[in-house]
Amino acid sequence: MSTDGAGAPILVLNAGSSSLKYQVLVPETAEVLVKGLVERIGEDGGPGGAGVADHAAAMASVADQVAQVGIERDGLRAVGHRVVHGGPDFSDPVLVDDAVVDDIRDLVPLAPLHNPGALAGIEAARAAFDVPQVAVFDTAFFATLPAAASTYAIPKEVSAQHRLRRYGFHGTSHRYVSRAVAELLDRPLDSFDQVVLHLGNGCSASAVAGGVAVDTSMGLTPLEGLVMGTRSGDVDPAVFTFLHSQAGMSVADVDTMLNKRSGLKGLAGANDFREVLARAEAGDEDATLALDVYVHRLRHYVGAYAAVLGGLDVLTFTAGVGENSPALRACVVANLARLGIAVDPARNEASSREARVISPEGSPVTVTVVPTNEELEIARQTAALLAGGR
Ligand code: ADP
Repeated sequence: MSTDGAGAPILVLNAGSSSLKYQVLVPETAEVLVKGLVERIGEDGGPGGAGVADHAAAMASVADQVAQVGIERDGLRAVGHRVVHGGPDFSDPVLVDDAVVDDIRDLVPLAPLHNPGALAGIEAARAAFDVPQVAVFDTAFFATLPAAASTYAIPKEVSAQHRLRRYGFHGTSHRYVSRAVAELLDRPLDSFDQVVLHLGNGCSASAVAGGVAVDTSMGLTPLEGLVMGTRSGDVDPAVFTFLHSQAGMSVADVDTMLNKRSGLKGLAGANDFREVLARAEAGDEDATLALDVYVHRLRHYVGAYAAVLGGLDVLTFTAGVGENSPALRACVVANLARLGIAVDPARNEASSREARVISPEGSPVTVTVVPTNEELEIARQTAALLAGGR
């Protein structure tokens, strides 16, 4: 084994306020040794209850699972943590120490729904595993956004005082997928411009010029941009004022409505894309409108980012919906042939779990489907940091 532990597995953690997703994998081979999810953290349950008391208890359960597959605690190379918000300063992964924990805590006002869970996960993992801990930020890939794309047109002293800007999220996925596209096409990353559509429960688009992110649809928070499972994406910000003054809703009520009761759920009553699609195919009008709004917004962003990039070489679909729904992909590219964008019906419909091209041979824009793998990307970035590679 080399001094930086190459070959040893890395534990990747994605801690939320009430859940802890984990995966132990070897970044060099992508081999997954064990993975799972501890849910209902903080719901101690009592007799027969399924919850666990806190993140420390959840981490003890993860340590048990890790031990059960024969990995000693000190047999891990490191723990890599997904941290949603890196704020203005974290543009790369960092080795976690007390100062970094304080810095992540300082970002809680920017990500009150997300960073507290990550912090609890980091604290628990530091206590449970005496190996290097690395934080990988979901915003980091978008630190390269030019000011024109990251700046809100509001008074600059307000932005400066409160660190308001477009940060972007899902960056770990957009980074992984944009690099996987270069591998799939066997083209140097810096030789082409691409748009990546990450369509899962959360949805985001990115414009990537020669491997460098230049625009993305999520903003200060993951609420902006595309229509999502339960989030509205773009709305006129005056919706807040209107619903407050006309409907008597509090700011917190509107925030909850836009984050939890909007998107596909708000329009069709279901946040699961498959369910909305099935209902639309059965003739349900609400589901049909929900899909139309979802697709319209996607086409809007594809066109916008083709303009931002000054032309497009590759369009990629990823995450649950993007990887698995030929119908959605066909709708997004319908009638875009004049922009050079089309899919080959047989290639689009073919069932596969591999990265693949679905546009016709010789198409001006190459359309691809690339499965995302955020855990592998976090493990790779963790390994690279330890090896001094970045
Ligand atoms: P998350 O953002 O939680 O990681 P995923 O990337 O797993 O989510 O995506 C979940 C979404 O993918 C759900 O809306 C689900 O309906 C959708 N999805 C999964 N499989 C299919 C499929 N075969 N066809 C259409 N949508 C699918």
